[in-house]
Amino acid sequence: MSIVGDIIQKSRKIVVKIGSQTLSDEHGAVNHEALHNIVEQLHALMEKGKQIIIVSSGAGICGVGAINKWHRKEDMNYKQALCAIGQVELMMAYKELFWEYGIHVGQMLLTRDDFGDPTRNLHIRNTLFTLVDEGVVPIINENDSVSVEEIKIGDNDTLSALAANLWGADLLIILSDIDGVYNKNPKDNSDAKLIEEVHDIESLKKEIDSAGKSNFGTGGVVTKITAAEMVTKYGIHLVLANGTKPDILRKIAEGTEKATIFYGK
Ligand code: ADP
Repeated sequence: MSIVGDIIQKSRKIVVKIGSQTLSDEHGAVNHEALHNIVEQLHALMEKGKQIIIVSSGAGICGVGAINKWHRKEDMNYKQALCAIGQVELMMAYKELFWEYGIHVGQMLLTRDDFGDPTRNLHIRNTLFTLVDEGVVPIINENDSVSVEEIKIGDNDTLSALAANLWGADLLIILSDIDGVYNKNPKDNSDAKLIEEVHDIESLKKEIDSAGKSNFGTGGVVTKITAAEMVTKYGIHLVLANGTKPDILRKIAEGTEKATIFYGK
């Protein structure tokens, strides 16, 4: 077993964030095969006594896939309408896939305000605990149709970190389209080196800065490192792995696929 496998084995409460690349195909429809594979692996973890909360992206992309128009519309009302449509597609897919194992799912759509307000915070916590204790898998997403800039969490990496902290998770697994954090963007640099273990996030940022040109990386990797900062200070480990690869959770546990682990302090 790998180091990641050891951490998964020791963790009971696991939040899994699934990125939009992982769950949509090249036409923007829900990638049922990939999602089926992930749900099957999550069910296997539940069989081992683990509790799972999912944070799922992809509503916007799935909305375009479902209605097959408006993809060039720039107005906010159309973008939010697409998320409203796509969210249903996504939840239908999760519901059907989990039901193969007789497991119910519950949807929670949240905004930044919900985390900032103590009463709402408590209600989110209580709902999460109740769902999980009763064997239901909560599926969280940002409430994109009501979120305007001021109340937006902005990205699901941050949302998954907020959820992991609120629930008191042991482990947050972020599934993206990349094997982990590299010293520079691997999509532009064929010599980029995967960093498998991170004990100190400040040194990681410096390593990325000195290798790449930009300010500690670009795009999605920044929010993933920020999520790692948010959870590791509460002792929660974070694993970043490639959700586009079949059987990824099993393989990182066996050590046949690589990932990046950020150690909780
Ligand atoms: P997701 O939709 O799964 O959240 P993102 O596209 O937002 O994923 O973020 C992942 C992307 O971040 C990778 O595909 C990669 O191109 C980019 N990236 C930039 N710098 C790095 C880096 N140093 N290490 C890993 N990925 C990086």
